[in-house]
Amino acid sequence: MSAQIQISGVNKLFATADKEIVALRDIHLTIPEGQFVCLLGPSGCGKSTLLNAIAGFALPTSGSIIANGDEVKAPGPDRGMVFQEYALFPWMTVEKNIAFGLEIKGMNSTEIEQRVSHLLQMLGLSDFRQRYPKDLSGGMRQRVAIARVLALDSPIMLMDEPFGALDALTRRNLQDELLRIWSELKKTIIFVTHSIEEAIYLADRVVVMTYRPGTIKKDLMIDLPRLRDPSTAEFNALKRELSLLVMEEQQRHHHHEMMLGAVD
Ligand code: ADP
Ligand code: MG
Repeated sequence: MSAQIQISGVNKLFATADKEIVALRDIHLTIPEGQFVCLLGPSGCGKSTLLNAIAGFALPTSGSIIANGDEVKAPGPDRGMVFQEYALFPWMTVEKNIAFGLEIKGMNSTEIEQRVSHLLQMLGLSDFRQRYPKDLSGGMRQRVAIARVLALDSPIMLMDEPFGALDALTRRNLQDELLRIWSELKKTIIFVTHSIEEAIYLADRVVVMTYRPGTIKKDLMIDLPRLRDPSTAEFNALKRELSLLVMEEQQRHHHHEMMLGAVD
């Protein structure tokens, strides 16, 4: 398998009024085509910053990111993004939301209709095609957001805590659907989460990040067969291993905040 994403020596600094935040430091990551990668770590460790850099929304301060053979300089149709907050157009129906990107691309209407119908079916949205986002549950809205990215057929899907706002049952259903879609369509997925269980449930590979500066603390392959059962001993052993790593970073986070509190 060829490297589809090559991240080399990436640093990202944010200048605020009184200080400079090192959000990412010396990130190196090679992601082969078709891999399902979870970026895991406590809040504030730079997961979104890294994902946004790959997406091309906010470029690194230094270092390089190559996706599909080209240096990332801007967002592109080869990299689709799904956010936690459903970025849907409230004034468009479900099917219009999914079709939007295809219309922009100038695809002909017969082809759009075919592709949209297929996606509606794939995500169990066929009965909801004429509804507006406000008339959908959170889980359904997030299905539409996924369908919308899938419509563009990007080889790379970037997902920033996409299921973070959903209840446990809806979340598990969407995780299973995402796994099914991923194995069917062979996308490369980079999925940000702060849930250890979600990372082990989904990923081929879990990349744990440190808290400030964001660096790679652990790069772990998950070899369990899917669909995975969180009640097994193997699953729980991984959960323990990753919990310890994440907890160390959470403590650094709390310590950091306490120190700031003492200074202010
Ligand atoms: P995560 O997604 O892991 O919660 P982020 O990538 O959002 O973390 O943030 C990493 C760090 O960078 C945090 O300390 C955050 O406060 C800081 N940060 C993120 N975006 C900005 C910005 N636009 N300006 C200043 N600081 C930022
Ligand atoms: Mg984030």
